[in-house]
Amino acid sequence: MIFRKKDEQVSEKESALVGPKKGKVKTCDVSGCSEPSVRTVSGEKARKGGLAVSEGLRKVHLCKKHYKEYKKATKKDRELERMGW
Ligand SMILES: [Zn+2]
Repeated sequence: MIFRKKDEQVSEKESALVGPKKGKVKTCDVSGCSEPSVRTVSGEKARKGGLAVSEGLRKVHLCKKHYKEYKKATKKDRELERMGW
């Protein structure tokens, strides 16, 4: 008797791993971006920072790249505040 590995079995196992997971992965809320989010920030601040997020969102999820942009933008904000805004 020869034991044959069924290719079907393997791909079945693989699709089970990739398939629906319990833990939801949030994605970046900036329009046109679908990177996984790393941070959640206030929607208002994100819009002020020039990020293209939908109005009405109180909290937005940002990916690494957009969070960096957000941080840059808010840094500028803080400097303005220091200058007596
Ligand atoms: Zn993004």
